[in-house]
Amino acid sequence: QQPPLHAIKDAPCVTTDGTPILLLGNISGAADLDLVFANGGQGAGLLRTELLFMSKPGFPSEATQYAFYKAAALEAKGKPVTIRTLDVGGDKQLPYFRMEPEQNPFLGYRAIRICLDEWKDIFRTQLRAILRASASGPLSILFPMITNGEELQAAKSLLEAEKQALRREGIAFDEGIETGIMIEVPAAALMADMLAAECNFFSIGTNDLCQYTMAADRMHPKVAALYDPFHPGFLRLVAQVIAAGHAHHIHVGMCGEMAADPRATQLLLGMGLREFSMSAASIPAVKSRVLQTSMEQAVALWQQVQTMRSAQDIIQYLQEKVP
Ligand code: PEP
Ligand code: MG
Repeated sequence: QQPPLHAIKDAPCVTTDGTPILLLGNISGAADLDLVFANGGQGAGLLRTELLFMSKPGFPSEATQYAFYKAAALEAKGKPVTIRTLDVGGDKQLPYFRMEPEQNPFLGYRAIRICLDEWKDIFRTQLRAILRASASGPLSILFPMITNGEELQAAKSLLEAEKQALRREGIAFDEGIETGIMIEVPAAALMADMLAAECNFFSIGTNDLCQYTMAADRMHPKVAALYDPFHPGFLRLVAQVIAAGHAHHIHVGMCGEMAADPRATQLLLGMGLREFSMSAASIPAVKSRVLQTSMEQAVALWQQVQTMRSAQDIIQYLQEKVP
């Protein structure tokens, strides 16, 4: 018997043995934070900045972006907000910028790949605006679609250049601001141990990571059955990323849809995940699972699931074990 959702909203988010679990919201701007807090969320694990860019007639200026990020920092009232830098391309287009048609847009020119290349100035403006807003609350910066260490280093050095410029100009920002990467490309997931040494946190983007690992388009109805985050190979990859991050003492969160799936909550806890970010509406159901789980149970569940050879077996087992 599950407790009513309204009853669990204000309860501390801990497992039955007292392990604290952070549940955060995926948002597109300050206005979404209300609903996150109303549902018991503790901040924003993913602020997608695409909507800001899509909603304007052209690339938003530094001033516009600064106001937008600062509003999120203030609205969060001391709780953390992770701002992801521009992630366009693939399925996300800007109305005022025509991108070359591609045969495989998801495998093409998108996100950090554009930002480190043709849109370097736009990227730098965004970094500067986020840094300035970090003086108003605990923000962190998240780079999407990182595929190798060189991209991470290039993004970090642009960030460092913007920090230097702000210092020179005497403009305040949070010197301790953390920098993390989305783990959503299998190559990055497989070398997570190395990337962990070069950033402050990981956020596992299961939407893209699953489609790339399964070689199945996340939007294509005819391969929808293959796109399954309960595939044993995918679960291994996720567990490996969590372990690699923790071995290097960085924090690891998940912001893809899998984080919002209550069927996966115990399993992810068993792998060691302690931070989940999802749409506000999904928070109560996931929280309810957390409140009913002991870590011992979760670890045993994950151990058992590792002996299984198909997503179907795993899902069936989870449904029996965690009704
Ligand atoms: C993801 O890929 O899991 C993710 C959260 O990013 P998006 O859905 O915005 O691509
Ligand atoms: Mg993604």
